Amino acid sequence: MSIEENLNSIEADLNGKKVVLVAVSKTKPVEDIQTAYNAGIRDFGENKVQELMGKESELPKDIRWHLIGHLQRNKVKYIVGKVYLIHSLDSIRLLNELEKHYSAEGLIANTLVQINIGREESKTGIYVENLESLIEACENCTSVKVRGLMAVIPQGDEESCRYYFKEMKSIFDKLKERKFKNISMNVLSMGMTHDYKIAVEEGATLVRIGEGIFGKRNYNK
Ligand SMILES: *Cc1c(COP(=O)(O)O)cnc(C)c1O
Repeated sequence: MSIEENLNSIEADLNGKKVVLVAVSKTKPVEDIQTAYNAGIRDFGENKVQELMGKESELPKDIRWHLIGHLQRNKVKYIVGKVYLIHSLDSIRLLNELEKHYSAEGLIANTLVQINIGREESKTGIYVENLESLIEACENCTSVKVRGLMAVIPQGDEESCRYYFKEMKSIFDKLKERKFKNISMNVLSMGMTHDYKIAVEEGATLVRIGEGIFGKRNYNK
């Protein structure tokens, strides 16, 4: 199916729900992004800073770029002012680096805290027990705002997906009831090509879809 056809069928699934669709364009050429853009998509996700920067410079300025991959501290300086939402805040050290560079430019870093909900060693994100101390540190910032939570759940069957999505929703709802400085719970970023329908049923407000829009990725090119 073409990119347009894929988008139509995903949008039909999301129709009537208040869910943001982020088109994950990693490894894909700017032509594909332009095609999705022409079909009305404005939110695009990349997992590598360099790739995002290269595409950002070539594509329309009204695109909202989402950084969905792990962010190394030494790359923060490149993204200031270029990224709409950072989905991968996962340490106090990264928080401090964001605070330093964004405050120097008089800008605000909008972020999601990434949680390693499946406690997988191969994945980034913080463990739930470290959430409180990260939140406390955020309260002392002037230039970093937390807008919600993000997770990449372990691969598994439908029951397993539901379990992790529910865990995330429950953490999200509990934080939402409390009042913190600099922290609001508006965005729950979870769900990818194979599980986004389940994620939406379980309360996702944003889904990140790559192969379901652009087709299989080839990492060997
Ligand atoms: C690649 C990626 C996605 C999209 O995955 P698909 O299976 O292609 O939909 C979503 N989120 C993150 C963090 C990713 O790295």
